[in-house]
Amino acid sequence: MTIQQAIQIFCNNAFFASRAFLPAFITALFARYSPSIPFSNTSLSITPATEWFIGDTCLVSLGILSMLEIIGDKLPSIKQVMVVFDKYLKSGMAIATTFALLGPESVAIINTTHAGISFYQYWGIFCAGMVLLLAKIRAGLFDILFEMDDEDSLGINSIFSFFEDIWVIIGIVLVVLVPIVVFILICIAFGAVYLIEKYNEKKEKKSLITCASCKEKIHPSALSCQYCQAIVENPLQVGILGKIQDKLVSDRKEHVFELVRAKRCSSCATRLTKKKIKQTCSACNKPPFGGMNEVKEYIGYVNSKVPGIVVVSTLLGLIPIIGMVLSVVISRIILIRPYKQYLSARKRVFSKWFLRFLGFIFTVLQVIPLIGAISPPIFIYISYRHWKKTFIKDAETRKLNDGFANTSQITDFHP
Ligand SMILES: [Zn+2]
Ligand SMILES: [Zn+2]
Repeated sequence: MTIQQAIQIFCNNAFFASRAFLPAFITALFARYSPSIPFSNTSLSITPATEWFIGDTCLVSLGILSMLEIIGDKLPSIKQVMVVFDKYLKSGMAIATTFALLGPESVAIINTTHAGISFYQYWGIFCAGMVLLLAKIRAGLFDILFEMDDEDSLGINSIFSFFEDIWVIIGIVLVVLVPIVVFILICIAFGAVYLIEKYNEKKEKKSLITCASCKEKIHPSALSCQYCQAIVENPLQVGILGKIQDKLVSDRKEHVFELVRAKRCSSCATRLTKKKIKQTCSACNKPPFGGMNEVKEYIGYVNSKVPGIVVVSTLLGLIPIIGMVLSVVISRIILIRPYKQYLSARKRVFSKWFLRFLGFIFTVLQVIPLIGAISPPIFIYISYRHWKKTFIKDAETRKLNDGFANTSQITDFHP
């Protein structure tokens, strides 16, 4: 394998983190037609053993799968399912493509029965591992996007998805034309992502404090130690998305709600991992909601944020389109995420489409000068009611452990 081939495989693999079939399709197209493309700089060659890769059947199949992939990625309900396991599909496709483009010297190895693994193959496996890691990071990023716009009523997901399609198509074409330039750009981008991940990890570890009683390392926002249950004297506040703040907690009761809202254990501040109302902390076994009473108090806490958001979104509503987008994003983080993060993605197709439809109508109405300003708060309020209702319904069916059999008393909480 030449260095140029190694670079080309590395660059090609980088795009498999975004799509499973599209990069394979474009690569196969290039492999088939590159002799007739001017300035084509590809060093990858198809050998008799891998002719199938550029054959009609494979090209047509990859073309159809790429189309389905591009469409599926625009539909949030499909994407949310795909994002869970597509990293394995992607690294599988990456490795298949790499091996389909084996250089002549490796085919010689494959054809002999006493074949060992060549450096070429090691490199392919290494790059596929990289795809797995990158696809995982990508899934994490989209998780944040879904929190903000899960029904794609603002089109945030579609816009990102569209740019990702472009990134893959242009990227792979550039790999063939100017591989070294793409290689340097990818190295810089990945290096930056890696450093940011490492930095965050280190920061979180460094911030741990020592329990005054048992001397174990515990979270600085914990109200009590997860090992010995000793009370923590001065816990630190936690932000809406779960980041530790520099300020000390002044109201311990309020801090309980803030921890639950940040999806952390209300006692030891360990992250809660499941999208369920009924779950227990992995460190201290405490459930986020011990019973309907706690659910009720939590709803009261989230309700208390509604008036502020109504004021802010009405003011933002004076700015056409951008004001609508901003207020919906803000309301999703502050009002809807507190409920949604405890609900599993189930079939709510009708309400999803209904909310999306409403989002469209209210965005159109919002453009009307002055009167349009009430459009964002009305839309936000309707979606808020929807998610709160879903949350209450789910809590009622989960049988939380406080013996409240009859919960009709909490079926409605007006903010
Ligand atoms: Zn302790
Ligand atoms: Zn805990």
